[in-house]
Amino acid sequence: MTDLRWKTTPYAGWGRALKATGPLARPDTRNELTEAAFPAHGNRRSYGDAPLNSAGAALDMSRLDRIIAFDTKTGVLEAEAGVTISTLARICPVKGWLPAVMPGTGFATIGGAIAMDVHGKNHHNKGSFGQHVKAITLLQGSETRTITPKDKTLWQATVGGLGQTGIILSARIQLSPCAGRQMRVTETRASDWAEHIALLDASDATYCVGWIDATATGDALGRGIVEEAEIAAGSLPPAQTPTSRAVPFNAPHFALAAPIVRAFNQLYYHRVPEEGRTLLRPMQDFFFPLDRIHDWNRLYGRRGFHQFQCVVPPDQTDALRAMAEAIATSGLASPLAVLKKMGKGRAGYLSFPMEGFTLAVDFPNRPAAVQLIAELDRLTEAAGGRIYLAKDSLGSGSTVRAMYPDYAAWRDAVEKADPDQRLATDLIRRLGLRSPS
Ligand SMILES: Cc1cc2nc3c(=O)[nH]c(=O)nc-3n(C[C@H](O)[C@H](O)[C@H](O)COP(=O)(O)OP(=O)(O)OC[C@H]3O[C@@H](n4cnc5c(N)ncnc54)[C@H](O)[C@@H]3O)c2cc1C
Repeated sequence: MTDLRWKTTPYAGWGRALKATGPLARPDTRNELTEAAFPAHGNRRSYGDAPLNSAGAALDMSRLDRIIAFDTKTGVLEAEAGVTISTLARICPVKGWLPAVMPGTGFATIGGAIAMDVHGKNHHNKGSFGQHVKAITLLQGSETRTITPKDKTLWQATVGGLGQTGIILSARIQLSPCAGRQMRVTETRASDWAEHIALLDASDATYCVGWIDATATGDALGRGIVEEAEIAAGSLPPAQTPTSRAVPFNAPHFALAAPIVRAFNQLYYHRVPEEGRTLLRPMQDFFFPLDRIHDWNRLYGRRGFHQFQCVVPPDQTDALRAMAEAIATSGLASPLAVLKKMGKGRAGYLSFPMEGFTLAVDFPNRPAAVQLIAELDRLTEAAGGRIYLAKDSLGSGSTVRAMYPDYAAWRDAVEKADPDQRLATDLIRRLGLRSPS
C-alpha cells in the first residue's frame, strides 16, 4: 500500500449517530492497491458502523469507478467496485438494460451493493443484488482472485458478507432487459394496516412498495400509499426533472418534531386522490426518490439518526403490526417509513432478505428512540425475523447472531479468508461477529 496517500479524518455512516476517526485513502486506480490490509467502503450509505474502522485505517473505493466491459447483446457488465448504481441506471437503459436490483439510493456502489446483498422494490420478483452477480474480483492480502458462485463457501461469505473476505475490486453483473427510461406508477391509498398488507400481498406488479404513515394510530394505524410500477417505453423530457437541492446545514432539533411529522404525513397521504392514480415518472425519481436532496441526513441535526429495518416471516404480520403500533404511539417516527413484501431470494450467508414483510423507519438519535429500537429488535427476534446490518447501529451481538441461521458458516469462511482479522470494522467488533463463539 506504499503508493496510497492517507488523510486522517472524522467520518460517519449515513445516520451520523456513529462516527470514526482514522486514516482514509481514496485510491484512483487499482494499481495503487498492492495489498489488502484495511477494510474498504463505498459511499457510506449504510446507516450505522458497517463502513467504519475506528481501530485503524480504511479504504474509500469510490474513485475506482470505471466500467471495464459492457456486452450490450448479453447485458453482462463488468465494472470497478466504486461505480454507483445510479451511474448504471443512467447509462444502461440507453442500451436496453438496467441493473436487475437497485436499492433506494443510487449512491450505493457496486462494492457496497455486493457486501450488503442489497434488495430493491422488486425483491419479490428478482431477489437480491448478489443473485445477479456472475463473478467478483477480490484482493486478499497480496493475492488477486476472481471468484464465481462455484466457489461455494467463499462466494456465500462474500455476497452480503460485510466486506470481510477481501477488498472487492470489480464485479461482473448480469443486467435485466429494459424497455424504456420512465416508469408507469400506480398509487393506491391503503386506509389501515389490514388493507396495506392485503394490497402488498396481492400485487403482481414488477415493482411494489408501500409508504407507511408511521404516525397514524387507532383505526388509521398502518395507513399509507402502495406504489406499483412497470418500466414504460420512451423517456420523459428533461424539463420535467427538477434540479438537485442540498440541505445546507444541520437542522435544529425541532425540525422533525412529532407535530411537524404528523402534519407532513397527513398531507403526504392525501396527495393521492381517494380513488388512486396512475402517472409517468422519470426512472431515477421512482427508484431513488431522496437522492435529489443532497445531504438530507442533516435534517436530523448533529446527533444524527437511526434506521430500524426488520423482516419477519409471512405469517408474522401481527408481530409487525405490534411494532407499527409501538412506533406510532412513541411520537418518535419520521416521515421515512417503508413497508414491503419480500420474496425468498438471497445470495449469501449473511444476506438480509427472507420471505415475508419488511418494515423500515427512521428515528432521531434520542434516548427514547434507542430504547424503542431495542424493543423492536426484541419483537423481531421473537417473530423469527431479522434486522438489516446495513441499517443497524444499536443491535446486540447475541440477538443478531441468533437471527442469522448461516452465521457460523459465514464466520468459518471469513476466518479462513482473513485470519488476522485485518478487515474487521466497527460493526464487526460491536456485534462480536468475528469473536470466538
Ligand atoms: C436513502 C437510502 C435508501 C436505501 N435503500 C435501500 C434499499 O432499498 N435496499 C437495500 O438493500 N439497502 C438500501 N439502503 C442501504 C444501502 O443500499 C446499503 O447500505 C449499501 O451497502 C450502501 O452502499 P455503499 O457503497 O455506500 O456501501 P458502504 O455503506 O460504504 O459499505 C457497506 C458495506 O460494504 C462494505 N464494502 C463496500 N465497498 C466494498 C469493497 N469495495 N470491498 C469490500 N467491502 C466493501 C463495507 O465494508 C460495509 O461493510 C439505502 C440507503 C439509503 C441511504
